Amino acid sequence: MNVLHISAECFPIAKVGGLADVVGALPKYQKEIGVNSNVVMPYYNNKFTANNSFDLIYENAIALGHDYYNFKILKLKDSTLGFDLFCIDVPNLVYKEYVYSNDDTKRFLAFQIAALDWLLTLNEQPNIIHVHDHHTGLIPFMVQECHKYAALKNIPTVLTIHNAQYQGWFSHDSVNLIPPFDFSKVGLLDWKGIINPLAAAIKCAWKVTTVSPSYMEELKQGANGLESLLSHESAKCVGILNGIDWNVWNPETDKMLKQNFNHTNVITGKKGNKKYLCEKFKLAESKPLFAFIGRLVGEKGADLFPQIFEKALAENDISILLLGSGHKETEARLANINNKNYNSFIGYDESLAHVIYAGADFLLMPSRVEPCGLNQMYSLRYGTIPVVNAIGGLKDTIIDIKNDGFGICHNTVNVEEVTHAISRATEYYKNKKVFQKNVTKVMKINNSWSNSAQLYVNLYKSLQQTKK
Ligand code: ADP
Repeated sequence: MNVLHISAECFPIAKVGGLADVVGALPKYQKEIGVNSNVVMPYYNNKFTANNSFDLIYENAIALGHDYYNFKILKLKDSTLGFDLFCIDVPNLVYKEYVYSNDDTKRFLAFQIAALDWLLTLNEQPNIIHVHDHHTGLIPFMVQECHKYAALKNIPTVLTIHNAQYQGWFSHDSVNLIPPFDFSKVGLLDWKGIINPLAAAIKCAWKVTTVSPSYMEELKQGANGLESLLSHESAKCVGILNGIDWNVWNPETDKMLKQNFNHTNVITGKKGNKKYLCEKFKLAESKPLFAFIGRLVGEKGADLFPQIFEKALAENDISILLLGSGHKETEARLANINNKNYNSFIGYDESLAHVIYAGADFLLMPSRVEPCGLNQMYSLRYGTIPVVNAIGGLKDTIIDIKNDGFGICHNTVNVEEVTHAISRATEYYKNKKVFQKNVTKVMKINNSWSNSAQLYVNLYKSLQQTKK
C-alpha cells in the first residue's frame, strides 16, 4: 500500500510544533509495518533546505486564478529520514523563510494545487492521500470536485486534525483561486459564510482523525465554530493517539543532551543535565526544577504564567525555567519577571528543549486545549514528571499519583488550581525515595508510535475496501 502524507510541516525539515513531529515520525513507523508511506511538503528557504541536496524530478506551472506560477518537485537525496521526502518549490510564493504568515491562503493553495497536478502525472498513484490540518484541507475537496483531478477521485482521503483552532478561513472573493469545479458544490467549501478549508476537509475526507480520543469528544463541545459539523460527521471520525519517535527521543543516544542516561542510571544522568541548566540559567540546583516548553499562546495557558509563577515561587521553594515564543505581550511579561528562582529563554531552541526535558524535575502543561500534546510524552521518556491539566491528549496519557499513577493532574486552568498542583508536586518531590522510584518507572512507559501506526494502517485498509 502506498500512502502519501501532505503537510505544511515535517521534522527535521521545518517545525513549528507537534504537527512536524508527527509527520516526521509516523511514515517511518508505517514503513516498518509494511506500508510505503512518504511525505510531500513545501520547499522553504531554511537551514535544512540550504544544507541538503535535492533531485529535480518534475517541473511545470500552476494556475492560481489568472496568474501562473512555475513549480518544481524536489526529492531529498539523503535517505536517512526513513521515508521519501518530496518538496514543492514555488519561487517567490512558497519559498520563504517562515512556515506561516499572513499570505498563507495563496501559498498553501499553490502548494496543494502543485501537489495534485504532479500526482496526475505519476504512473503509480498513492492508494491513500493523508492530509494534515487546514493547510492541506482543500485537497479532499479538490480531488472530489475539481474537473481536472477527476483521475484522482477514487483515491481515499484521510484528514488528521492536529489543531482545530486554526481553520485557514478566506473570503469567497478568492474562490476563483481554486481550479474549476461544479459551482453548485461551493457549499462544501463554506462554513458560516466564509471559505473554511478545515470544514471543507471534514466534509469531503473519507475519514477524519484527531490526535487523541479525548480531543475527538471535546471537539463536539468546543471546536472554534465547527462543533455541529463534527457531530454531524461523527460516523467517519475517530481519535488515534499520537506516539513519539522512540529513536529521536531517546535519552540514551540523544546527542543534544549534556549527559546520556537510561532507566538504570537516570538519577545521575538527570543530575548532569540539571547542573548544566542551573549554571546556564543561574538557578539553584538543590531546588526542584519546574519547566515549561512551548508556544506562548492562550491554548497553553501562557497568559496566566506570570501570575502562576509569582504565586508558585512565593509559596514553594522551587525554581522555574521557561522556553517558548508566541504572543509578543506574553513574551515581554515573561522576560521581565524578576525573581532569582526564575529564568527564561524566549525563542525557539530544539537542543535546549531536549536538555530541559532531561534536566527538569517537572514539566508544566496547564493547557486549556491540548489535542494530543507530545511534550508530556517526551518528558516521561526523559524521567521528568508532568504536571498537567487533564484535557485532550493529556487526559489520555497522564494518570495522577493519587490514582496509582505517575503524574500530577488538575482539572481547571486558573492561578489557584495550577499553583495548587505545583505545591502538590513540590511535596511529592520531598520524599526522595518515592519520587526517584517514579522517575525510573515513567521512563519505561511505552508511548512510541508502534501501536498507533498500526491503527492508522487498519483505517487505511478499511478505506481500500470501501467505495465512497
Ligand atoms: P503544539 O503542536 O500545540 O505546539 P505539541 O506538544 O504537540 O504542541 O508539540 C510541541 C513540540 O514543539 C514539541 O516537540 C516541543 O518540544 C516543541 N517546541 C515548542 N516550542 C518550542 C521552543 N520554543 N523551543 C524548542 N522546541 C519547542
